[in-house]
Amino acid sequence: MATIEWRSPASEMAVQQFDNAAAKLNLDSNLAGRLRRPDRAMIVSVPTRMDDGRVNVFTGYRVQHNDVLGPFKGGIRYHPAVNLGEVSALAMWMTWKCSLVGLPLGGGKGGIACDPADLSRHELQSMTRRFTAEIINFIGPEVDVPAPDMGTNEQVMAWIMDTYSQHKGHAVPEIVTGKPIAIGGTLGRREATGRGVVYTIMETAKHLGIDLLQCTAAVQGFGNVGSVVVKELANIGVNVIAVSDRTGGFFDAKGLPVAKLLEVADKNHSLEGCPYGEKISNAALLELKCDILVPAALEMQITKENAPRLQCRILAEGANGPTTPEADAILREKDIFLIPDILANAGGVVVSYFEWVQDLQNFFWTEEEVNKKLRDILVKAFHEVLNMSQKHKVEMRLAALMIGIDRVARAMLWRGLYA
Ligand code: GLU
Repeated sequence: MATIEWRSPASEMAVQQFDNAAAKLNLDSNLAGRLRRPDRAMIVSVPTRMDDGRVNVFTGYRVQHNDVLGPFKGGIRYHPAVNLGEVSALAMWMTWKCSLVGLPLGGGKGGIACDPADLSRHELQSMTRRFTAEIINFIGPEVDVPAPDMGTNEQVMAWIMDTYSQHKGHAVPEIVTGKPIAIGGTLGRREATGRGVVYTIMETAKHLGIDLLQCTAAVQGFGNVGSVVVKELANIGVNVIAVSDRTGGFFDAKGLPVAKLLEVADKNHSLEGCPYGEKISNAALLELKCDILVPAALEMQITKENAPRLQCRILAEGANGPTTPEADAILREKDIFLIPDILANAGGVVVSYFEWVQDLQNFFWTEEEVNKKLRDILVKAFHEVLNMSQKHKVEMRLAALMIGIDRVARAMLWRGLYA
């Protein structure tokens, strides 16, 4: 994102990744110039009446990176660190992710700079509805379809769906994905991202000839993605030895009681005060000796500082952008198998696509159908990336980006430049 407005550490990282893949693909420079920046970026003021009567003006964003393959698609993040640069990077990654797994969707992302934990339910609802109203002319089932991301959930999606529907005068479930089942959500969406991470880990283990029953795992983040990864890993017999959330982490070399951890997190909305294992920091978790490491929280967690100390065999990126390009260069020299974010965590948007399709057809699938179709798509994408990486002798991240970017670029060349 060449111009100053989009500049942030995350957007520079996204552009650097793009430039590496574009160079490898010999991408036309006019095309690269268009793809390096978003199609459209919105900054909106979101005045919200707080419970004490004050009006707090939050800042909201929706960035639409590219829609050559279909409507912009991507989550809405509520987090204090949200800014235009971060949202732009996340929007770009959505474009490559949707393309990589073959969805007829483009890339977008949104967010509000806020701490949802500090807001009452009423404040959260008012802020969400006003944000929806501010971007309402730029979203739509054929235009831009939001979804959950960090700090948002099915309730927030329900409020967005209701606000949009009230404006249209009738129910429009297909305006968002990740909604409650009762208003047109799909079975299996809530678990989809975490489940997808585990499907890609299983495929990796098969490829490397590793027995997952003998494996240990450490998972950073215990939200929409991390908690499901932990649950699903435990279900297939992986020994989860460390978990964390923003309040800190817990470690037990012999294995943590996963069912109990999930119960605590469900009740307290955090892992704080967990009586299991010994306390460790989020940073220490990443450096533990384990077979599988899953960063499933914020971006830029694995940097040139801690990358030399990583001790895992498989690094499965549940989060978007958890590894910086400098860290990538260090990991390349180590014997670590990387499952890059746009592949590992694509399960969420794949099942979002299924939800959108079901809403448009008013015809709903069983959870078995959803999971089977999800797994088929991810297994196919995994092998495409692996083949690309072997054929061109590049690491898995570059291979995944090359496939994702190439499809978008071809579509743009066919459609040409409207002027
Ligand atoms: N926020 C998720 C992601 O980063 C899901 C996006 C979606 O389902 O549209 O992939």
